[in-house]
Amino acid sequence: MVGGGINGLCCAWELARDGHHVTLFERDGIMQATSRASSKLLHGGIRYLENGQFRLVREGLKERDAWLTVVPHLAQPLPIIYPKYRSGRRGRWMLGAGFGLYTFLSGHSVLPSSRWLEKTEVQQLLPELKHDNLEGGYLYYDAQMDDYLLGKWVAEQCQNFGVEILENTAVHSLSPEGRVKLSDGSKRWFDRLLNVAGPWSEHLLAVSDIAANHHLDLVRGSHLVVDRQCDHALILEVPNERRIFFVLPWQGKTLLGTTEVRQQLEDAITCSEEEKRYLMNAYNHYFSKVISEIELLDAFAGLRPLLRSSVNSGKSSREYALQRNEKLITVFGGKWTTARALAGKVKHKCFA
Ligand SMILES: Cc1cc2nc3c(=O)[nH]c(=O)nc-3n(C[C@H](O)[C@H](O)[C@H](O)COP(=O)(O)OP(=O)(O)OC[C@H]3O[C@@H](n4cnc5c(N)ncnc54)[C@H](O)[C@@H]3O)c2cc1C
Repeated sequence: MVGGGINGLCCAWELARDGHHVTLFERDGIMQATSRASSKLLHGGIRYLENGQFRLVREGLKERDAWLTVVPHLAQPLPIIYPKYRSGRRGRWMLGAGFGLYTFLSGHSVLPSSRWLEKTEVQQLLPELKHDNLEGGYLYYDAQMDDYLLGKWVAEQCQNFGVEILENTAVHSLSPEGRVKLSDGSKRWFDRLLNVAGPWSEHLLAVSDIAANHHLDLVRGSHLVVDRQCDHALILEVPNERRIFFVLPWQGKTLLGTTEVRQQLEDAITCSEEEKRYLMNAYNHYFSKVISEIELLDAFAGLRPLLRSSVNSGKSSREYALQRNEKLITVFGGKWTTARALAGKVKHKCFA
């Protein structure tokens, strides 16, 4: 198994629970790449409904509830408000249909249904928000986690089931026959090989001279941590765009995210000055007390491994796909929330 992000760890856990001997190679430390740079949401992804990704949303909602049930100490319900402005790009009927569908796709969820909030309720809950043009808002629920801590918890489960986790061990290439060549030149052989290297999985196939049946769009997303308490999670439209961004409570501070910037694998995965300004401007558009650079405590970025499906990165798919080459299975894409479900499918593919 290659990759110590949430998808690799969940695959290792799933296979080890079934009694398989699993070795996981991670070139850095576990949970140091994309899986630690997320928006910290366990969710179906309300915005993916607009792209018609109903299967993904339903799976995400089911998995959100499963995480809440399995690790209640590491995942908490998160009420989120979507303030509706007259100037917004989405009409009330459209938002109502979207949130209604989100609740419907949640099935018998452990979380409450979404509901409309009158303007006065939004004003009471969010006195710091500008209220010109405000019509009201929708309240809905998802869940929040600490991605690093929850990933470490999964790693602990792996170790309890005997997974050998080798950190600082980079894989140079793989072969369909089950050979792993490590960067130090040594070789090891396995019955099954899983390439779960997130944004690097397509590259790992390329350096192994194996043709990829799927392709990834690599889209950087950045977040800012602001030294300001946040009492309510919000989802807001970026001014003059259809994109949305989150304002989230995070460790007593405010987490702002995210951006979408296409980049190459070899480019640095860091939050640019332009992304900082973009997020701060978006926030300052809605709040009476603006944030300034001095309040920025941290900025972090991750690279989304999206299945290529469109020239518009906002419409690239958050779905995942699997490719089998004899003993080798490669994972393309995959969200944090759905890592357990993905692991179940990988196991099935391994032994089909
Ligand atoms: C900005 C942003 C926000 C997001 N927010 C959310 C969210 O709120 N909720 C959600 O569900 N999803 C979210 N996602 C998506 C989610 O974070 C990712 O899809 C997921 O973390 C990918 O996990 P992974 O294990 O596939 O990849 P990674 O976490 O990147 O893990 C891959 C690992 O493979 C290792 N590796 C690569 N090549 C090699 C090699 N040759 N040898 C050994 N090891 C190697 C890397 O070091 C890395 O540790 C977000 C993504 C981004 C970028």
